[in-house]
Amino acid sequence: MSEKPLTARPEIEVRGLHKSFGDNEVLRGIDLEIEQGEVVCVIGPSGSGKSTLLRCVNLLEEPTKGQVFVGGTELTDPDVDIDAVRRRIGMVFQQFNLFPHLTVTENLTLPQRRVLKRDKATAAKVAAENLERVGLSEKANAYPASLSGGQQQRVAIARSLSMGPEVMLFDEPTSALDPELVGDVLGVMRMLANEGMTMMVVTHEMTFAREVADRVVFMDGGVVVEDGTPAQVIGDPAHERTRHFLSRLI
Ligand code: ADP
Ligand code: MG
Repeated sequence: MSEKPLTARPEIEVRGLHKSFGDNEVLRGIDLEIEQGEVVCVIGPSGSGKSTLLRCVNLLEEPTKGQVFVGGTELTDPDVDIDAVRRRIGMVFQQFNLFPHLTVTENLTLPQRRVLKRDKATAAKVAAENLERVGLSEKANAYPASLSGGQQQRVAIARSLSMGPEVMLFDEPTSALDPELVGDVLGVMRMLANEGMTMMVVTHEMTFAREVADRVVFMDGGVVVEDGTPAQVIGDPAHERTRHFLSRLI
């Protein structure tokens, strides 16, 4: 990432994005730009299309119409090497999806070796560095089942970071956690934000959004209703739909 030249292009760019599942038009024309190093929180009611938007940004879902660019590369170009682009995008889900039969370190080294073809020593070194970043060096040889949910999610973040992503996408990373475990995961995300990682975060954690996000995007019914600073969107929403949504969270 440090060798990337400064460009005028946003790191993530979504243009006129539509996505339908059969007759159900879930995304109805999304335009969004995220600059390098920017942290954008996406909020909105259940079913508004937040996960689908995130999944379109790394082509886990194929858009019905529109364009998605990451780091200046068009993912929606039929000729693009999608595996190569996807390697630049880390994704963290609500469910951590760790391999239960592998140790924490093995969970971090396996994708590096399989996908990036790193040798064992390099993969182990990168794994150790990233476990340290998320504060879990002492769990290197533990199995996922022996960890708390919060620790498992931090391992999943470290696994993603071990692939050296340019951008990180988070889909409700703390929603499956007991309340007392949420803080540690948000702390790791806060650290990444401070380090300048470009992040798109679907979350209901309004304190995190208010304190960490550069911008907050409120979605409803498959469109972006509001896009602005946390002070604007959370503190002084312009739309009734946003006010209604926020009033139900508090
Ligand atoms: P959110 O993350 O905001 O809760 P989603 O993007 O998960 O919303 O879902 C938006 C709508 O798209 C929902 O109506 C959901 O049922 C539908 N949907 C999502 N994924 C699929 C799929 N793979 N097949 C069919 N419908 C889907
Ligand atoms: Mg969702």
